[in-house]
Amino acid sequence: MKCVLVTGGAGFLGSHLCDRLIESGNYVICLDNFFTGSKENIQHLVGNPNFELEERDIIWPYMKGVDEIYNLACPASPVHYQYDPIKTINTSVFGAVNMLELAKGVKAKLLQGSTSEVYGDPVKHPQTEEYWGNVNPIGVRSCYDEGKRCAETLCMDYHRQAGVVVKIIRIFNTYGPRMAQNDGRVVSNFIVNALQGKDIEIYGDGTQTRSFQYVDDLIDGMIRMMATEDEFSGPVNLGNPGEFTMLELANLVLELTGSKSRIVFGTLPEDDPRKRRPDITLAQTKLSWQPMIPLRDGLLKTIDYFKSQL
Ligand code: NAD
Ligand code: UDP
Repeated sequence: MKCVLVTGGAGFLGSHLCDRLIESGNYVICLDNFFTGSKENIQHLVGNPNFELEERDIIWPYMKGVDEIYNLACPASPVHYQYDPIKTINTSVFGAVNMLELAKGVKAKLLQGSTSEVYGDPVKHPQTEEYWGNVNPIGVRSCYDEGKRCAETLCMDYHRQAGVVVKIIRIFNTYGPRMAQNDGRVVSNFIVNALQGKDIEIYGDGTQTRSFQYVDDLIDGMIRMMATEDEFSGPVNLGNPGEFTMLELANLVLELTGSKSRIVFGTLPEDDPRKRRPDITLAQTKLSWQPMIPLRDGLLKTIDYFKSQL
């Protein structure tokens, strides 16, 4: 039985990962400060002898005998990461240092939950891992983008300088059950508003694109990445290459919910990337992984979840 630390384990992605790791016979420690995570996400695991909750902030050093670390602690929605940007960058950077020091100290493997945001507003399309990105270092999104880029740098420096086994994944927009109703990201906003008969607000003209991956596909990719040979650090893109405009997404949500909500147009946020689509050739070859759940099917499952919550 392995002892696995999941930081951000009470969040949307982290709680699904905790579930999957426990199902596969691991002992899981979930570290979370509950900034955007919730007790409900992990309620069903409390009391399980193979689950331990560590309510603490990742910006403080932490030592524990663990075998693997999945580092996911960080607000991910623009609304939440821009709420306290100094805290966001501290979480990414000091959080990464603390987890890498832990990995070094106890010889654990570390998987870093990085993001497609490291590509910024990409000039290269679709994005391959070799692309260095087009990030504004001083904009309102920088606390997140640059924090995550710095965390990747730290991973590679601990790897080269201290021999820590690191695995970097760049996660593209992921959605599914357990997103918070007030998460603020586009899929949950559109579904929640459609189900409540409220206007669906598209920021800008709706021609910007994103590639949406269902949570189960991502968790599968994460676990495959952790299992690769020690020498392989990535980074590896994990995303669904299906690319949609926000207008297409809005219309699909209306169709699948049967909602009569109106589509309205608002202001495009500063530095909002125009387009995003992963090239997943590396994940296909190194992890034998590719997403299995098309947007329509994943949205139906997510709509069912929000129906049960509202
Ligand atoms: P989330 O907001 O649901 O989860 C983040 C979790 O981290 C929450 O439980 C939160 O309470 C916790 N957290 C935040 N700051 C913390 C701190 N200082 N100390 C301890 N815990 C802290 O978001 P998510 O979508 O589950 O994202 C999880 C990770 O995946 C993040 O690192 C995010 O950057 C990355 N990611 C997610 C997506 C996506 O589309 N969901 C895309 C790219 C990257
Ligand atoms: N967006 C939107 N309406 C919303 C929330 C987001 O039109 O209610 C847009 C947003 O401007 C962006 C896209 O949807 O162009 C994806 O936004 P999200 O915050 O989900 O993810 P990110 O921008 O970080 O990829």
